[in-house]
Amino acid sequence: MADPRGFLKTKRKKPEEHAASERVKTWGEFVIEPQESDLRAQASRCMDCGIPFCHQGCPLGNVVPEFNDLVWRGRLPDAVRVLHATNNFPEVTGRVCPAPCEASCVLNIDNVPVTIKDIERTIARSAFDGALDPIVTPRSGRRVAVVGSGPAGLAAAQQLARDGHDVVVYERDDRVGGLLRYGIPDFKMEKGIIDRRMDQMRAEGVTFEVGVDVGVTVTGRELLERFDAVVLCLGARVPRDLPVPGRDLEGVAFAMDFLAQQNARVAGDVVPDARAILAGGKHVVVIGGGDTGSDCVGTSIRQGAASVTQLELMPKPPLVRMPDNPWPAWPLVFRTSSSQEEGCARDFSVMTTAFAGGPSAPRRVAKLVAVRAELSGGSAKPIPGSELEIPCDLALLAMGFTGPEPKGIVAELGLRLDARGNVATDIAGATSAPRVFAAGDASRGQSLVVWAIADGRRVAAGVSRWLARAEGRLRATG
Ligand SMILES: Cc1cc2nc3c(=O)[nH]c(=O)nc-3n(C[C@H](O)[C@H](O)[C@H](O)COP(=O)(O)OP(=O)(O)OC[C@H]3O[C@@H](n4cnc5c(N)ncnc54)[C@H](O)[C@@H]3O)c2cc1C
Ligand code: SF4
Repeated sequence: MADPRGFLKTKRKKPEEHAASERVKTWGEFVIEPQESDLRAQASRCMDCGIPFCHQGCPLGNVVPEFNDLVWRGRLPDAVRVLHATNNFPEVTGRVCPAPCEASCVLNIDNVPVTIKDIERTIARSAFDGALDPIVTPRSGRRVAVVGSGPAGLAAAQQLARDGHDVVVYERDDRVGGLLRYGIPDFKMEKGIIDRRMDQMRAEGVTFEVGVDVGVTVTGRELLERFDAVVLCLGARVPRDLPVPGRDLEGVAFAMDFLAQQNARVAGDVVPDARAILAGGKHVVVIGGGDTGSDCVGTSIRQGAASVTQLELMPKPPLVRMPDNPWPAWPLVFRTSSSQEEGCARDFSVMTTAFAGGPSAPRRVAKLVAVRAELSGGSAKPIPGSELEIPCDLALLAMGFTGPEPKGIVAELGLRLDARGNVATDIAGATSAPRVFAAGDASRGQSLVVWAIADGRRVAAGVSRWLARAEGRLRATG
């Protein structure tokens, strides 16, 4: 147990960040990593409660009090080992996880949870300062293909390789990482950390093949001929559209197209002018109040937008928990992201009804037309007479995703979908097709990195168990 009286002696303290006015001049991360002594003091606040709710709060079941205790005692190498026992990529979750563990920390009853995410990031940093040794296990002679290299695919691949299987990861994009690479902006997570993990994974027996669109470049059936099992970690990449008048005007774009282009630019690629979606000098309106929308805000500000407005269809959440949303549940309260802090107007209960061009360029968006909305019967309804217009040279649609692409590999293999359009699986990740498994957003729907890693670990365990059983059957019948 960390210091039994630590939480009484030490206040919760978040790391410093570069001022908004400074950090928007660069694409780099802006958290100033704390001194180790500060981290130890923060870790000392963990009470090692009899029932540690943070275990349940964390989808990975990270054993938080154990690593807090080790950090407090200055035993970082042991903390590295404990943390990696449940989490393949703490350097990622330590940056982008919304930390449901902190929401369920007992100290959060008083709104001062242990800074678990920062402690996790520091442990991961200390692992990176070292060798990031590969874990190499005896080979099983089995071959597994993983399709998609987002956090689910990467976690599945690493676990499968550590179970001794030869793993090939196929990725459609030109670089590995899924939304970690093309989606999440560099100011939230610099991409070098993905490359560092890839080096470790290669040494553990994982092969990466990029630019391979499975279903097009190679068929699913071909993969099933070459491999003992196929794991689909395709993500849920079909964006929700806004079919209103003017949707086809120039300057109305999906958020993901905008964000991925900027990731590519930061990586040194040139985006051709004809395709470029840029916010510089424009009045930007982001439609959608979630993570994706927030990332559009920070990216637009860094590109030099004249103004950024973010609209949300749902009402503004309360400032404090409501009685029907008690601890340790995730608090449904008003939040301000680091990007919103950098300077954006926010409006709630706004329903976009049309985009319109200007007199000089009628095919280019110049304004957004909307109406105020109220919740009625669980959905938002327009309030008559409350119409409004917002100047808009660039509208970014960030209203979530409807699920995985139903065509391509999913259609080719005839996979059963669930009621929400995601790939249906059993608890071990097995789909309706023999030897085909699925994990991450493709089977869960658009979610969080931490869930994708957890799903990747779970499906890997499912595949290894299935391969072992199949091997047993072969021996019995052979
Ligand atoms: C803009 C944005 C910001 C986000 N920010 C956060 C955040 O801050 N914190 C957080 O926890 N979560 C965040 N999320 C959610 C998180 O990124 C996802 O839940 C997570 O990446 C899902 O992982 P995945 O591996 O299932 O899928 P993905 O990361 O989507 O990866 C799927 C991969 O499969 C590849 N693929 C698909 N089809 C094929 C095919 N046929 N052949 C070959 N390859 C294929 C795709 O190219 C892609 O690389 C964000 C999401 C978005 C869109
Ligand atoms: S992965 Fe996320 S939920 Fe789990 S301990 Fe880390 S910050 Fe908390």
